[in-house]
This record gives sequence, structure tokens and C-alpha cells, in this order.
Amino acid sequence: MPERIRARAFELGFIGIGFSMPVRPLFFDEYRRWVSSGRNGGMLWMQRNMEIREDPIKLLSGCRTIISLACPYPTEKPATEDGYTLARYSTPLQDDYHIRFKEKCKELVKYIEEIYKGSSSRILIDSAPILERSFAYSGGIGFIGKNNMLIIPGYGSYFYLGEILTTALVDFPFKDPNTDLCGSCTACIDACPTGALKGAHDFDASMCLSYLTIESLELVTPSMGKLMNRCFLGCDICQEACPFNSANTEIRCMPDTGSIMAMTDEDFLINYGRTALSRPGLKRISANIKAVSGSV
Ligand code: SF4
Ligand code: SF4
Repeated sequence: MPERIRARAFELGFIGIGFSMPVRPLFFDEYRRWVSSGRNGGMLWMQRNMEIREDPIKLLSGCRTIISLACPYPTEKPATEDGYTLARYSTPLQDDYHIRFKEKCKELVKYIEEIYKGSSSRILIDSAPILERSFAYSGGIGFIGKNNMLIIPGYGSYFYLGEILTTALVDFPFKDPNTDLCGSCTACIDACPTGALKGAHDFDASMCLSYLTIESLELVTPSMGKLMNRCFLGCDICQEACPFNSANTEIRCMPDTGSIMAMTDEDFLINYGRTALSRPGLKRISANIKAVSGSV
């Protein structure tokens, strides 16, 4: 049965699938220590619901299997006409990945529920407190690099992660988690422009450009703008430095930054209302552009 689910997942376009038991996640203690240290910045939601994070059965009564799924995003980096960029996961020309990813998961759930009659499932795409990298690792999808990204050997780390929790008892064979293949490499740590990545798996989110340009309640400072290397939304630098990610090309698919900043809220909504850019919104994006272009 797990082979059939795996085959259907790959048919649907997923690039990785792993099965785990709904037990205390392997890296729960590390996670708890990390949030206790305050390095989650202003993302206070990360320290809530610890009892659910520790016991994922609380997310679906009767859950017997966690299915982790890796859904690829483009390896080409989106760029504006005047050469500024956005993190790859933002996919400004497509519907928000939460919508697209969930649709694919619904197809897979349909298939699972045909095989396991009477089972029920819950899809999680950033929608519930679960230690997703920990389960994806336990399920054998990849290893967790020194940059804290899950890396699929032979593919890299340019993908989203999500889960299907199901009451079906999928009889999957135990798979040894992937070996850590970083070796002596420190390219991601050396490349991090802000010092957020201090060492192997030693990460301060409050200094990370992904947090500072999207999540933080404070706007990016001019001094931080100088470290953003033309990227005004998110940051891919520690992934671009990684030898497991080969493609570092850009695709100009956005108007120039002046035109973006000149948009009305209505223009922005029409152009980007269904994309992941709607989350930071026009005001935030304009402030980031000012900081990165030095026009503050
Ligand atoms: S995303 Fe950017 S700022 Fe954050 S850890 Fe990676 S390189 Fe550093
Ligand atoms: S850049 Fe090197 S150390 Fe960092 S995650 Fe990739 S292989 Fe590991």
C-alpha cells in the first residue's frame, strides 16, 4: 500500500514522501530549547501549543500515520525588470502555494481514502502546530542541513513541506533517516549576510532576512537593507550557497520596483491578491524595496 501511495504522490508532482508514526517528534527537545532561547524573534506562535507539537495525535483523533510531502517550487529566482529579486518560494506569478499544495494533497487524500475505506484525514499546509521537518526527516525524505533546511540528496532544498495526517494504518517499512551529507562544508554559514546562521543548526530567526522582510512587526532598517543583496522579500542566500542546489538563475517576471511602489492597493490586489505576496502586502513590500534600494 505505501508503494501505491508513493507512486500516486509522484504522479501528482510531489518530489518526496515519507511515512512516520504520530509519536513525539525526534527533534522536539531541540525545538523546545530553541524557542526557550527566544531566537524565534516575534514569532510568538512558535512557542504556543507545545503540547500539540509534542503529541501530534491531538491534531487528528485516531491518527495512525503521518505522511510528509515535499512539493517543489521553481529553482529560478523571480526578479523585477530593474534587477531586484524575491525568494523563490514567493512564486509571484502563481496562486499562493498554500492553495496549490492543498489541492494536490486533496487528490492524494481521495486516493488514500479509496484504499483505506472508512479512514479520515487532515491536510496541514502551515495550518497547524507540527514539527514538519522532524517528521519529514524521520520519514526518510532527506537530511537536515547545517542551514536547517531539509535537503533531498540529488534534488536540493527548493520545495515546500506539508503533511497528511490519516487514521489509516499505513504499513510502511521502517526507513533509516538519511545520513547528514554536509560533511565539512560550511558554505551556508559563511554566506549568511546577517549572522543569523551562527553555526551548524545554530539559527537566530530574529536576525534572519526571511523573518525581517515578512514576519517581523518592525520594518527593515536601512543598515539591514544593505545586507539584502537586491532581494526585497525573503532570502535564499543560505540555500543558494548550498552545493545540493545547483540552479542559481533568475527570471524577470515582475515590473520594475518603481512601478510596484506606484501601485494602488487595488492594482496590487488585482495583480497579486491570490499570490503569496498578499501576505506581506503592498505597504510592507514597498518599505522593503526602499530599504534594499537605499532610497530610505
Ligand atoms: S535565509 Fe538569509 S538571513 Fe536567513 S539564515 Fe539564510 S542566509 Fe541568513
Ligand atoms: S551549504 Fe554545505 S553545510 Fe550548508 S546545508 Fe548545504 S551542504 Fe550543508
